[in-house]
Amino acid sequence: MFESITQGLQGALTGIFRSGKLTEANIREGLKQVRQALLEADVEYNVATQFIEKVTAEAVGEKVLKSLRPDEQLIGIVHQQLIALMGPTDHSLHLRRDGINKIMMCGLQGAGKTTTCGKLARKLKAEGWKPLMVAADMQRPAAIEQLKTLGQQLDVPVYAEAPGGNPVAVCKNGLAHAKTAGANVVIFDTAGRLHVDDRLMFELEQIDSRVQPDQVYLVCDAMTGQDAVRSAKAFNDALELDGVILTKLDGDTRGGAAISVKQVTGVPIKFVGMGEQLDRLEPFHPDRMAGRILGMGDIVTLFERAQEEFDAEEMERQQQRMLKGRFTLEDFRNQMKQVRRLGSLGDIMKMIPGMGGLLDQFQNIDAEKDMGRIDAIISSMTLDERQNPDRIDRSRRTRIARGSGTDPADVNRLLKDFDNMSSMMQKMSGLGVKDRFRAVQD
Ligand code: GDP
Repeated sequence: MFESITQGLQGALTGIFRSGKLTEANIREGLKQVRQALLEADVEYNVATQFIEKVTAEAVGEKVLKSLRPDEQLIGIVHQQLIALMGPTDHSLHLRRDGINKIMMCGLQGAGKTTTCGKLARKLKAEGWKPLMVAADMQRPAAIEQLKTLGQQLDVPVYAEAPGGNPVAVCKNGLAHAKTAGANVVIFDTAGRLHVDDRLMFELEQIDSRVQPDQVYLVCDAMTGQDAVRSAKAFNDALELDGVILTKLDGDTRGGAAISVKQVTGVPIKFVGMGEQLDRLEPFHPDRMAGRILGMGDIVTLFERAQEEFDAEEMERQQQRMLKGRFTLEDFRNQMKQVRRLGSLGDIMKMIPGMGGLLDQFQNIDAEKDMGRIDAIISSMTLDERQNPDRIDRSRRTRIARGSGTDPADVNRLLKDFDNMSSMMQKMSGLGVKDRFRAVQD
């Protein structure tokens, strides 16, 4: 995500710093490069131009040039202005506890609208709401079945009628059904088309006026850059959107849509889609996004994802075993698996400040394969060996290697990693947070 814009911005900013002492002239010159990087990232032209004007006005002042660390100040200004462009934070769905909340989802075909309906339903259900999805996309033949499947997967009810029906009627019937079914949030999956056209807008306006949704969200594909922004503008002119949900940010290297859409339409980005799986919907945080764009990482989101993904009870059990000095190879394997659930190695590294730059060195590591190998080695051990790895002698090592299709050297390496990890844990288990930090540095 954002690889190319991050590289472009970092290149432009480093260029300024490399030019020696910061002066008004080299800041102005360097910011032109920053503007170029934004345009290459498909940021809308006026947005890029105004952004640079604001940064320049702030950066050439005395405050920056005379400060002790002008480079940090400059990055700080770019960071703040990026946040201002995409913000303020606004991911409330404004749901009421009394009555039925109506959320209308629209978007062009392929943007990820139906998937996002599922993601939203999943999120609402987890928060204790009773969602119901209405299949009102009569345009794409498979959309009704797709929504039904999502409903089954999530155990969320879906209201659907036979293909070819009138979408307004489907929405109204769906709403009536929600009342009897006891749902309190109804998500309408409306039609999409390949392009914005009058018929589509007419259909959506009809639903809007007859169903009177509380919130209207546009789902758009971040990877389409300025096209996404243009479609957001067209939808907003017709429907007065309450928010945008930007999908496929996981595959977006440029970031142009994320940066421009709020500025061009005035509509906030509520959520972002970070993958095809249903749990990959994140609230949009302009500050964290600005950090990711500048390659400063996003440790807060990583931490939140970890809390959501990790099995708290299992973690607690592992910690107890660790405290008693009984951390086993089985625990080691579980931990590795949990970390892998957070995303690919590359994804995780990008979210850790300062690690993004190291990515190149890790290009050749196939974490999936590594994990598979570790899994196979541990599976080839007896229960007793997993709990007491010090009993693994040479002949056992050879047997385990043969059983797992690996080399004895691989088994050795794993045992050594495990040994390092458990001694580190032993060392840290009795320490406070600050001392733990020191222990890791040693
Ligand atoms: P619709 O025509 O707008 O309803 O689009 P779909 O919901 O069928 O999605 C189109 C494709 O985009 C599907 O293959 C989805 O799995 C995929 N998709 C949706 N959201 C995301 C996302 O956030 N990231 C990625 N990588 N793929 C997504």
